[in-house]
Amino acid sequence: MSNIKSEAERCLKCKKPLCSMNCPVSTPIPEVMDLFLAGKVREAGEVLFKNNPLTAVTSIVCPHESNCFGHCVLGKKGAPVEFYEIEKYISYFYLDTFEVPEIKKNGHKIAVVGSGPAGLTMAIKMLLKGYDVTIFEEGDKIGGVLRYGIPDFRLPKTIVDKYMKILLDLGVKFRPNTKIGSAIKVEDLLMDGYKAVFIAIGTAVPRKLGLLGETHGNVYFAVNYLKSAESHHLGRNVVVVGAGNVAMDAARTALRRHHSNVTVLNTKADGEMSASRNEVEMATIEGVQFQHLCQAIKLEDDGVVCVRIKKTETEDGKFKYEEDYADTFKIPCDDIILAIGQGPGAEVKESMETDERGFLAANEFGETDIPGVFAAGDIVTGPKTVVQAVAFARETAEKIDEYIKGLK
Ligand SMILES: Cc1cc2nc3c(=O)[nH]c(=O)nc-3n(C[C@H](O)[C@H](O)[C@H](O)COP(=O)(O)OP(=O)(O)OC[C@H]3O[C@@H](n4cnc5c(N)ncnc54)[C@H](O)[C@@H]3O)c2cc1C
Repeated sequence: MSNIKSEAERCLKCKKPLCSMNCPVSTPIPEVMDLFLAGKVREAGEVLFKNNPLTAVTSIVCPHESNCFGHCVLGKKGAPVEFYEIEKYISYFYLDTFEVPEIKKNGHKIAVVGSGPAGLTMAIKMLLKGYDVTIFEEGDKIGGVLRYGIPDFRLPKTIVDKYMKILLDLGVKFRPNTKIGSAIKVEDLLMDGYKAVFIAIGTAVPRKLGLLGETHGNVYFAVNYLKSAESHHLGRNVVVVGAGNVAMDAARTALRRHHSNVTVLNTKADGEMSASRNEVEMATIEGVQFQHLCQAIKLEDDGVVCVRIKKTETEDGKFKYEEDYADTFKIPCDDIILAIGQGPGAEVKESMETDERGFLAANEFGETDIPGVFAAGDIVTGPKTVVQAVAFARETAEKIDEYIKGLK
C-alpha cells in the first residue's frame, strides 16, 4: 500500500456498509474512515480498539477476502478498498500512543485461563470495566497461537509484546507457566474468590492420522513444529501432510528456516484445498510444491507412502473421492510434518460438559453448565479464526459483567 490516505479517500462510506456487515466484529468502517480522514487518528484508533482490542492483529491475519475486503462494493467493478491496511496503520499508532484511561475499580476478581485472542480480548475488556483480572497461562508468554503458531513472517511477535505492555499498564496480574487443571483446578479459582472464571484454552492438541510410522523420529506435528521451529533440525526434503492454513504455515516456515524442498500432500484436487487462496498463492510463489489427489498411507524413515485419489463425478453432479490402491507410490523425504487438524486438551474439560466433538459445551454467550464458569474461542467452537475468537469473547465479557452485577 503506497498511500494510506488516498486509499481511505476511495471509500464510498456506503449507507449499508457491506464491509462492516460482513465483519465478524462489525468494525464501524465508515466511522473510522471519517475520523482518519479528519486527521483524528487516535480517535479512530480508539473506536477500533473499543470495538475489537485485537484490531492491530486482525488487520494482519484476518481472511480479508471473505470479510471486509471481499465485500467492498468497489470490488464489483474494480479494486476494493484495502481497509485492513488503513486499520493496521491506525491500530499501530493507537497502541504506540496508548494512554491508560481513568478506570474505576469495582473490587471484583475474575480469572482468565489462556491468553490467546479470546483470553486477551476478555482480559482487556474486563480491565477496562474495572475488574481485577488475573491471567493464567500455560506458556511463558501471552498470545496463544498469535505467539506460538502464526509464524513471525506473517505476524511479527513485537505486536504481541505491545499487548503485554498494555495489559500491564491496565493492571493485569499474569501467572505464566501455570496450567489450570493441573495443580490448580477451576474449582480452586472459584473457592479463592474469583467471581467468574473464563476458559479460553484453544485447541493446541494435534490430531493423529492413525497411520503406521507416526512415532518415527522424523515425523512432527505442525502445531508442535511451529511452536519452536528453531528446535527442529529438518533435512533437505520435507513433506507436509495436509493442505489447510496450518499446513501452509508449516511448509513456508520449513522452506525459510531449513531451506528445505517442501511438498504438500493434498487429498483433494488443485483449487480445492482448505487453506485460503492467499496462503496457497504465497506458498506457491515461495516454491512449495503440491501433490494433489494424494493420500499418505504410511510414514517411513525415508519417505511417505501414498495412494492416488480418484475424483469422479456422481450422477447428482457431486464429486466422490476414492483411494486407487492400484496406484501407490512413495515420495522420498527426510522429514514429515503432519497438519491435519487440532483438538482440545484433556485437563480443564475433565470436570466439565463437552459436546459430541469433545469441545467445551457453552452457549453463544459463553455460559457453561457451571455457574460462574464461562468459555469461548476455539475450545468451544473448534478451530476457527482470530476474529471469531475475539467476537465470541467480546460477547462473553458482556455476559460475565451482567452475571457478576446480578450476584447478591
Ligand atoms: C498455525 C496456525 C495459524 C493460524 N493462522 C491464522 C490466521 O492467519 N488468521 C486467523 O484468523 N486465524 C488463524 N489461526 C486460527 C487462530 O489462531 C485461532 O482461531 C485463535 O488463536 C483461537 O484463539 P483462542 O484464544 O481460542 O485459543 P489459542 O490461541 O489457542 O490460545 C489458547 C491459550 O490457552 C493456553 N492454555 C491451554 N491450556 C491451558 C491450561 N490448561 N491452562 C492455562 N492456559 C492454557 C495456551 O497456552 C494458549 O496460550 C491459525 C491457527 C494456527 C494453529
